[in-house]
Amino acid sequence: MDLSDAAEGSSFAERGVKEGKAGNTETMERFDLAIVGGGIAGYSAALTAKNLLLNYLWLGESGFGDKLRLAEKITNFPALSGDGARFAAALGRQREEEGIILTEARADGIYSVSGGYLITAGERSFEADTVILATGVETRATLNGERDFLGKGVSYCAVCDGALYRGKRVAAVLSSAKFEDDARYLARFAREVICFCLYPNPSLGGERLIVRTDVPLAVLGGERVRSVLTKDGEVEIDGVFLLKNSAPPAALCGGLETEGAHVKCDRLLRTNLPGLFAAGDVTGRPYQYVKAAGEGCVAAHMAREYLRELRKK
Ligand SMILES: Cc1cc2nc3c(=O)[nH]c(=O)nc-3n(C[C@H](O)[C@H](O)[C@H](O)COP(=O)(O)OP(=O)(O)OC[C@H]3O[C@@H](n4cnc5c(N)ncnc54)[C@H](O)[C@@H]3O)c2cc1C
Repeated sequence: MDLSDAAEGSSFAERGVKEGKAGNTETMERFDLAIVGGGIAGYSAALTAKNLLLNYLWLGESGFGDKLRLAEKITNFPALSGDGARFAAALGRQREEEGIILTEARADGIYSVSGGYLITAGERSFEADTVILATGVETRATLNGERDFLGKGVSYCAVCDGALYRGKRVAAVLSSAKFEDDARYLARFAREVICFCLYPNPSLGGERLIVRTDVPLAVLGGERVRSVLTKDGEVEIDGVFLLKNSAPPAALCGGLETEGAHVKCDRLLRTNLPGLFAAGDVTGRPYQYVKAAGEGCVAAHMAREYLRELRKK
């Protein structure tokens, strides 16, 4: 969603986002802890939360993320050898045995509300007293100008902001084929979607979807986005959707202090927002499974400590 909407405790109610169902629950319940991100950090947080008897919600994609599944050879995780697929399979077995529930959804906004947090994911929304952000980092370089136009025509979420571009011309920069559905979604509203597909053999196309395989160089504009710069010149657009695995954390959660792609946090993984913790690559280097898993565990413990203090009051 545009950053203008993402300020702490902002226009969520005005936008009339619907209350949704959280995974295995029938009504909107308030969770002790919401974990955002389906990689090893998020999984470790969920596993720890379960062992600590917290009522948790774990949001992400199934399969533990591309970065885990696609690793060629892992030699630095204790007692593990083999490739990412093997690692993911072992985690999958453990997840099943332990009954860890994943709600397959992508969070698009985290808002501070009534002493806790409201997490939106498309048309669904969830409430939790504490949050662990475990969204990883995007390793692909940030597009020049991307940060300057956050909330001014740059969006990371087709489902949240697509309808704002009814009848307009937009660009979508797709980091992988899994975002093709998001581009199709944009075409339901926009008059034209120029799709920059940064991967081989895109299968997009058809009415209103123009596929390009060149790489955009920058986002340009004045007050708002005006164009995407390519080696052949400017492509005029009204908005640009950057569809990638991990959006900058500040775009997800207004008011969160960051340092570049990373969330600022202390040794106990506390961020500047009370009750909001971070774990894994999103907290900074080194980018390693073992560090991500360790931080997921620590963050879940810290969330429990925070809840204890909160409930004493
Ligand atoms: C090719 C490759 C090989 C590697 N090999 C090794 C290795 O051998 N050893 C090693 O220690 N490390 C290795 N790494 C690094 C390792 O992959 C990372 O350190 C680790 O995956 C970090 O885990 P994470 O959970 O923090 O983030 P990620 O693995 O990036 O997981 C984050 C997950 O959250 C999801 N997500 C993002 N935003 C949202 C949102 N808004 N809502 C819901 N979900 C969201 C993402 O889609 C992703 O699934 C490798 C990395 C790569 C790319």
